[in-house]
Amino acid sequence: MYEKFQSFLQNEISGIHDAGLYKKERVIITPQSASIKTDSTKGEVLNFCANNYLGLSDSQVLIDAAKKAMDERGFGMSSVRFICGTQDLHKELEKKIADFFGTEDTILYAACFDANGGVFEPLLNEEDAIISDSLNHASIIDGVRLCKAQRFRYANADMADLEAQLIAANEKGCRFKLIVTDGVFSMDGNVCPLDKIHVLAQKYDAMIMVDESHSAGVVGHTGRGTTEQYNLRGKVEIITGTLGKAFGGAIGGFTTGKKEIIEMLRQRSRPYLFSNSIPPMIAASGIAMFDLIDKTNTLQDKLHSNTEYFVKKMTEAGFDIKPTQSAICAVMLYDAKLSQDVASSLQEEGIFVTGFYYPVVPKGQARIRVQVSAAHEVEHLDKCVAAFTKVGKELGVIK
Ligand SMILES: *Cc1c(COP(=O)(O)O)cnc(C)c1O
Repeated sequence: MYEKFQSFLQNEISGIHDAGLYKKERVIITPQSASIKTDSTKGEVLNFCANNYLGLSDSQVLIDAAKKAMDERGFGMSSVRFICGTQDLHKELEKKIADFFGTEDTILYAACFDANGGVFEPLLNEEDAIISDSLNHASIIDGVRLCKAQRFRYANADMADLEAQLIAANEKGCRFKLIVTDGVFSMDGNVCPLDKIHVLAQKYDAMIMVDESHSAGVVGHTGRGTTEQYNLRGKVEIITGTLGKAFGGAIGGFTTGKKEIIEMLRQRSRPYLFSNSIPPMIAASGIAMFDLIDKTNTLQDKLHSNTEYFVKKMTEAGFDIKPTQSAICAVMLYDAKLSQDVASSLQEEGIFVTGFYYPVVPKGQARIRVQVSAAHEVEHLDKCVAAFTKVGKELGVIK
């Protein structure tokens, strides 16, 4: 039986190759950091494509907290939360997350993919409406698919379209309406217009969910995300996020918000009920991480000044940068092949970045996504700009 399926798969895979869409893994042989070594490049390369926004992926504070927790609380939980998989560390981390975002309660998941996968189905049914931004993350799209609520989609950050969809949901007599948006859209780096979304939500009696995965730790003066940026702390019903990006980069996700919502998720959310607890070391390093970024604003400040500096220098060099309010900086090249050529030339210059092209971004909108980190020093940023300038001139991107 397998032979037929095997040749079917081989055929599909070569189609992926032919379309230039085949994904390869690049193997890093050092800790994740601003400067890394790989098994295929000579010496160190500067990393500009990790979600390591606060530079905590190799933080000694987090490593020490994880080691201590392993000594004191063991390695794994071997259980889901409600059977025998909850330690004091899990409860403490949930409280830290709620304090950080100014919410009432938090539920942990193995990943934000699970948080988004398990948030809609327990809360809403066919009488209700989910109104979702067209550029929302894949995990939101999958989570919505698992739920029976009626689906409405609005063009990215387009408030006229959001209003039209809210009116459409009202005309269908929907009981509850939930507007869902990413905090930062990962391909452009734009922040969702949460102030305007909030006005429309009030006007049409809708609730709001924000996925802060790319915005937590990044957006807002202290990195508390879009609700800090727009002065809406405590005014959003549901926030989801990850511990896998700015917050240390290991693993883990969460939903935080109104306490009845979190209580219901603990009763009915399938990835919570049927999947293992995060290990004690991850909970402990998460607690240490929140203590660290609560105590000083050094990392957040450094990230903001690094991003500002990088965007300024790249714009001065003549590059076309998408307006960004996050640490994501889209260097527009428009042509798919050109974006691949620029990315591979940059790698030869010791700069690790990724080119994005159709279908990840619309046709004719190819780009290189640069992700700035608090781990970068000004000399790293200068080296990156110099490499972009050299390669950009060679390939005719800039004069
Ligand atoms: C990265 C990301 C996720 C997934 O987070 P994991 O914890 O890695 O599963 C979900 N939503 C958004 C918007 C993301 O950027």
